[in-house]
Amino acid sequence: MTSTAATPTQTAKKVPVTVAYGDGIGPEIMEATLRIITEAGAGLELEPIEIGESIYHRGISNGIEASSWESLRRTHVFLKAPITTPQGGGFKSLNVTVRKTLGMYANVRPCASLHPYVATKHPNMDIVIVRENEEDVYGGIEHRQTNQVAQCLKLISRPGSKRIIRYAFEYARANKRKKVTCFTKDNIMKITDGLFHRTFEEIAQEYPDIEHEHWIVDIGAAKMADTPEAFDVIVMPNLYGDVLSDVAAQITGSVGLAGSANIGDHCSMFEAIHGSAPRRAKQNLANPSGLLHGALLMLVHIGQSEVAERAHNAWLRTIEDGVHTYDIYKHGVSKEKVGTKEFADAVIARLGQKPAHLKPAEYAKGAHMNLAIRPAGKPPMKVRVGVDIFIDRRDGNPDMIAELMEKFNVEGTKLTGISNRGTKVWPNGNPDTYWSDHWSCRFEGDGELFTAQHVVKLLEAADRAGFDVIKTEGLYTFNGERGYSLAQGE
Ligand code: NAD
Repeated sequence: MTSTAATPTQTAKKVPVTVAYGDGIGPEIMEATLRIITEAGAGLELEPIEIGESIYHRGISNGIEASSWESLRRTHVFLKAPITTPQGGGFKSLNVTVRKTLGMYANVRPCASLHPYVATKHPNMDIVIVRENEEDVYGGIEHRQTNQVAQCLKLISRPGSKRIIRYAFEYARANKRKKVTCFTKDNIMKITDGLFHRTFEEIAQEYPDIEHEHWIVDIGAAKMADTPEAFDVIVMPNLYGDVLSDVAAQITGSVGLAGSANIGDHCSMFEAIHGSAPRRAKQNLANPSGLLHGALLMLVHIGQSEVAERAHNAWLRTIEDGVHTYDIYKHGVSKEKVGTKEFADAVIARLGQKPAHLKPAEYAKGAHMNLAIRPAGKPPMKVRVGVDIFIDRRDGNPDMIAELMEKFNVEGTKLTGISNRGTKVWPNGNPDTYWSDHWSCRFEGDGELFTAQHVVKLLEAADRAGFDVIKTEGLYTFNGERGYSLAQGE
């Protein structure tokens, strides 16, 4: 098939884009993708950069050279094919490095089924996952504190939550979506996930035209996997979003079809969600659809929505016509099994056509997303009311630790509780609770203001008594509201 069926369209004004061809199947699917969108009328001024395996092997542990950063800072737009991450330690994830370095806070992944052309249990599914991309446990701040216990810090910020939640509502409005759902686990993580949920409820008030709802993530995930048509846009903190965006893509029929956008205030990156599939490389086998979907999101981002719509509709028509690569080819449904190049040719030949049965793609043209950061209100009054002192003690038991600590005699403080991995063990602990070597001992103010000097004196007393202090956490109230959790059973 040739590209002659494409009606020439006016090429959009050229926009500089950094492009990386990646590893494995990357170069083949990038070439096919660029051919399709160029024929559809995309105006791009490409700046190729090298990333991935070859750079890792040159000893650059994050897989990207300094000169490539310059290109990204210049163009602000990155179309990226998958890369191969070398096995073994010492290499850092290029994706995480690029996202975090360039502040790409929103990960957007549309997942729509193509029933009956691609087999799926969910023929009416059409959801968009908006995942927070920078915070949560992905700060990667981990410490092993005792022989038995390691910890990973989960950080959720108010500005970070506001930004991603506003993005989800603005995305919904710009794309004529009707509902935004939030998933958190704030029945357990009342302070971190609670902050995300509360921020969601606040921001939702500014969008009365869009329905909003909240689900606890476990039952929400079960519902999404079972009845995805009940959802529209779903916004989530980083970890839940990472897991559930793959689930959402998979249940449309194939992870190989989905693309994603990583959006920041200054730079954005667009890609397929799959990896470099090295076993399929250089055989003209791979399906370029995932990267093409990433490129469509990019076209919308740079103001070329009409081109995106044209390419997307030609792609839908190709899928409908049964022209399929091996990964989605199914006897009885598919009509022609094609390679990467031939698939691109088939899409190009259908430019200007719309699907006959599937819902045609319709991208909002010129829709403005108002993502400006609003000034924060007056900060709440923060008051220190105590400290949790964490100690490493293998041979301990709660009564013995409490007896030693009650002898600290730091005026203005009192020991109010001891917990072990979040469960109260003193006073009145349950003999069935397992004790690890990781104890948290809570000291609160005894009638007067709890100062930093109280913390210092308690630490000195703990040291004199021979305790191995592994960390402290301050206990604060904010406008009188408790900013720390109680132990389980407290
Ligand atoms: P993968 O997604 O590359 O491939 C898994 C399997 O899915 C392949 O063997 C293939 O059968 C199929 N597949 C994937 N994409 C396809 C396509 N476009 N067309 C047809 N079939 C396709 O996952 P993997 O094998 O676990 O990872 C391979 C490499 O990719 C690893 O080095 C991994 O670190 C890397 N990776 C990179 C990215 C990225 O750059 N964004 C993402 C995930 C994995």
